[in-house]
Amino acid sequence: MYDIDLQKEKREIVKRYRALMRAWNSNKGVQENNLVRKAFIMASQAHFTMRRRTGEPYIYHPLEVARIVAGEIGLGETAIISALLHDVVEDNPDYTIEMIRQNFGDKVAYIVDGLTKIKDGYERLESTAQVESIKKMLLTLSDDVRVILIKLADRLHNMRTLDSMPASKQQNIAAETLYLYSPLAHRLGLYVIKSELEDLALKYNEPEIYRTISLKLQETELERKSFIQKFIFPIKRSMALQGISFDIDTRAKSVYSIYKKMQVKEIPFEEVYDLFAVRIIIDTPPEQEKLDCWRIYTLITDNYNPKLNRLRDWISTPKANGYESLHTTVMSPTGQWVEVQIRSRRMHEIAERGYAAHWKYKQQVDKDRAQESGLDDWLAEVRKILKSPDANTLNFLDDIKLTLFSDEVFVWTPKGHLKSLPSGSTVLDFAYLVHTELGNHCIGVKVNRNLVPLDQKLRSGDQVEVIASKKSFPKEEWLEYAITPRARYSIKEALKEQRKEQAAEGRHKLEEVFATYDFKCSKNNIIRFSEYMGFASPADLFYKMYQENIPAEHILKFIKLENSELHLPTKGPEVKQKREVPYLPAKPKSKHGTTYDLDDFNYVVASCCHPLPGDEIIAYTPDGVNRIVHRTNCPEAIELMSRFANRITHASWSNKHMNTFLAGLKISGFDRKSMISDIIRVISEEMRFNVRSFHIDTSGELYEAYISFFIHDTVDINRTIERIKQIEGVSAAARMLKFLKT
Ligand code: MN
Repeated sequence: MYDIDLQKEKREIVKRYRALMRAWNSNKGVQENNLVRKAFIMASQAHFTMRRRTGEPYIYHPLEVARIVAGEIGLGETAIISALLHDVVEDNPDYTIEMIRQNFGDKVAYIVDGLTKIKDGYERLESTAQVESIKKMLLTLSDDVRVILIKLADRLHNMRTLDSMPASKQQNIAAETLYLYSPLAHRLGLYVIKSELEDLALKYNEPEIYRTISLKLQETELERKSFIQKFIFPIKRSMALQGISFDIDTRAKSVYSIYKKMQVKEIPFEEVYDLFAVRIIIDTPPEQEKLDCWRIYTLITDNYNPKLNRLRDWISTPKANGYESLHTTVMSPTGQWVEVQIRSRRMHEIAERGYAAHWKYKQQVDKDRAQESGLDDWLAEVRKILKSPDANTLNFLDDIKLTLFSDEVFVWTPKGHLKSLPSGSTVLDFAYLVHTELGNHCIGVKVNRNLVPLDQKLRSGDQVEVIASKKSFPKEEWLEYAITPRARYSIKEALKEQRKEQAAEGRHKLEEVFATYDFKCSKNNIIRFSEYMGFASPADLFYKMYQENIPAEHILKFIKLENSELHLPTKGPEVKQKREVPYLPAKPKSKHGTTYDLDDFNYVVASCCHPLPGDEIIAYTPDGVNRIVHRTNCPEAIELMSRFANRITHASWSNKHMNTFLAGLKISGFDRKSMISDIIRVISEEMRFNVRSFHIDTSGELYEAYISFFIHDTVDINRTIERIKQIEGVSAAARMLKFLKT
């Protein structure tokens, strides 16, 4: 329990306030001012009687959020004041936005208002409500990006203190963080915050994995340090000889990114070769930084051989989120590949703190409007999606997510202009990027002078030319070709326009038919006929009329019915029934909040991640009846948790499970005689598991084998892995995290 000691708390509050001041000072060299102090006092008074879930005084939270805003994002006075006040209006009815405006001015009032309006998605059950709140958040983003930056600081502090939340909520909050906030931080270039959010999310989603990887990182730290020392020694010497002033940073990669790598490559921790990158940060004036970075590159490649195709030049063409750096991967004397990142102090600052750091380096009078072009393009894109009338759907979320995650490809126009698009974009996306009309009338596209299909994916360096004709219009299937929100939005609009014209024609046809039966074509009659035919709206009815005539007998039958004056409720020929999705109340359990014991209901295991008893799992119910069990770290589960929190329950395995489950192993090593039969013998005879499939690839002396078999739980699989590793010729064995569709 938390003991309340008011004197101690008072001292702690003062201590935290001073820490905030220090964070701000060290950053901008500014002194405390009256306005910030006033905001601190107002927040303290407003939250005076409130406490956090931990039992601590509530004011700790706004103080910490303000400290992150000042120290870790690098924002100034307006943002600090807004952060201190961010929960005041929402939590205390005695305080209003008007009061904040009178005391702190329009800007602060605007930001606090924006922050008050954004509700966290996990607090809502309805996914549409969640989308609405994200929409609001992004709307403010296009007005004042500080709203989002403070929101990210707020989320970061809540993630840091997630321990105090009930377990059932922790996973949803963590999933939402992974789904939305960390991509957002990435998009705004806040790498440090993004990594911490991801690590914290993993810690709550997959505590076991998080612990294991962190532990292994600690265990290997000394070894890594001595390796790095030896590796950088010659580089340091060369740079010192040239009189270059520099810093070297060799932090290990985040737990989450290591975990991702293990998943994608299906390898154990020991095989992740790039656990760290060597960052060389040079002190050099802006006008010389590019040249100096390339100079360092030369020094490095004089000492070590670079890996071909691994040169990444984000200096000549920075990423859309502002990231600039020069990356190369070189071979160390011990035969290990090492990634080296070269950047100036300015670039480093931007890489770490992103968007906010741009302001610091921009000698511009108007600090509220950053002109960073990549970000501006992205904001323009977001604004366009937000304006779309269809934005209220879940597709909207996918569109936004796509622009959040995208890495870019760079292609050339015929006139030699460089355009950037999200990777995965097609030539059709390109056409729409150049101009909406060009997209709408596109009949073909040439890539590097060759005609290609419209769904061809772009590659960096392509030269793309669009051929258009006024007589050509978008087609339904184009929606499958285009992936950028801009193109998809324009195609939908054009199709809608087409449909409108076609519906008008259909309506005209219907009027004619009604007239031949001497039946009035009133609005009321049209609605009734549309319902009778089972259409969602008269527009659909008209469209159907346009496409193909509705058989006369249906029309006649309807008219007869209407004229018979017996207006009994009838069901038409094609009435589709909408099925209500029942909402199942969760059954509370003491330890894990709301949890379902898997024995209690019918369930299937998801074919993407094949969970085993012993794994952390969630159950998703698409219809309120059936349940699909996923591992909590399954990408699909993370998306489901974030989008359909109300259809997710935290499940736990029953102790008395009798079933067997499909599990897969990836085994690799040096091939030898009867290797295959030895592996199979161990699994099927010694361990007595039922083998379902076996597949082996060999190249030279190496082999990679995939074996799937039925077992009871994670204990079985771990036991099997240990045993398999003892077989001669096996150098690695690991569980398959992703199953191929069978
Ligand atoms: Mn808050």
